Amino acid sequence: MSTTIIKNARIVNEGKIIEGDVLIRGERIEKIANNISDANATILDAGGRFLLPGVIDDQVHFREPGLTHKATIASESRAAVAGGVTSFMDMPNTVPNTLTHELLEEKYAIAANTSLANYSFFMGITQGNLEEALRTDTETVCGITDDGLYFNKEDGILANYPEFLEKLFARSETLIALHCEDDSIIRANTEKYRAIYGDDIPFQYHAIIRSREACLEATKRVVGIARKHNNRVHIYHVSTLDEAMLFDNTLSVREKRITAEACVHHLWFDDRDYERLGAKIKWNPSVKTEQDKCGLLKALLDNHLDIIATDHAPHSIEEKSGNYFKAHSGGPLVQHALPVMLELYHQGLISLEKIAEKMSHHVAEIYRMKDRGYIREGYYADLVLVDLHQSWKVSAENILYKCGWSPLEGQAFQSKIVKTFVNGHLVYDDGVFNLSKTGKRLMFEKER
Ligand SMILES: [Zn+2]
Repeated sequence: MSTTIIKNARIVNEGKIIEGDVLIRGERIEKIANNISDANATILDAGGRFLLPGVIDDQVHFREPGLTHKATIASESRAAVAGGVTSFMDMPNTVPNTLTHELLEEKYAIAANTSLANYSFFMGITQGNLEEALRTDTETVCGITDDGLYFNKEDGILANYPEFLEKLFARSETLIALHCEDDSIIRANTEKYRAIYGDDIPFQYHAIIRSREACLEATKRVVGIARKHNNRVHIYHVSTLDEAMLFDNTLSVREKRITAEACVHHLWFDDRDYERLGAKIKWNPSVKTEQDKCGLLKALLDNHLDIIATDHAPHSIEEKSGNYFKAHSGGPLVQHALPVMLELYHQGLISLEKIAEKMSHHVAEIYRMKDRGYIREGYYADLVLVDLHQSWKVSAENILYKCGWSPLEGQAFQSKIVKTFVNGHLVYDDGVFNLSKTGKRLMFEKER
């Protein structure tokens, strides 16, 4: 069994930063203390750099199977670990859509062979597979979701079907994660601007077409139904301050039945960036105003919002090209999420402890993950060592996404991910990958 001691680290964990050593034996953290010694251990001197729990991203689209021209589990998990993301949960809008347990298990089989990070895959839910979705095993699958499936025209976003949600919430025993936008408001806005601009609607109108009202209406509707049934519901990618204020901030994350997240792009970009970046920052839900951007961060800090995710959704450059209607929504982020948040730390907007809480601890709590999300003795050694003073620039040469582009190209960051451990295995070491081990399937407590 391999043994490693990380010496002289500043360990960011559970609201504190302590100086010390971490002893990793095999897959787990055995001891956290000062001056640990072990004659057989590999010593890694952190030199006072910061050690954080690995990021857990609960919303990625790794596109496999079926859309592997955009991304694969192998390519994107590689980008993930280079960005300090040690676990991910993947969406069901692969091809075919993940709407049966057989298809779900096929994704687990691919990941078992090719994923460098730990993984879980959401079961998809549409109006056509309720019984199948309700059979989802809560201990081995992270939850059920409609995210991304709205491209199936016959279903649409489930938030638009309150009667179906009533049926689903009344019977589901596992966590349900939802994408909330109101289709009818979006449709009306689209027609309005199409009448003015034809197919060449300027991209800044994306924020007005997929509007704050569309988000607020849908989120309100879903939260209302979830409260009635006391379900475990998680709302993805909240993009407006108004929605954030719908969520409770008095209960602990563990006690909450309804939880919500902000995404990195909604914390970094705002509608002033459309002019410069156009389709590259076309996301659903849309990037909105500066006021929303600042409000979302504030809502994270005061616990109206619980976690930070990426909604990593790569498309090829060709798919991101063309007019408003042709350019796909979504963009890659998993390699750059932690550097972005560390940049906000440098700007004095968030603490390192809060970053660990929102990107690791609370994600583990929401999903009731077993033995992950913290730097604790006995837990899996999913760790990321960051250098806060090693600046670099995002460029075509260092982008690891299969799609080969990033909306952050040209952006300079002050902090660099130096090393990433997944289950005690040093998978990423200063630009070099060790491909000898794959990640593990995430496991969860039964009741959630
Ligand atoms: Zn979504």
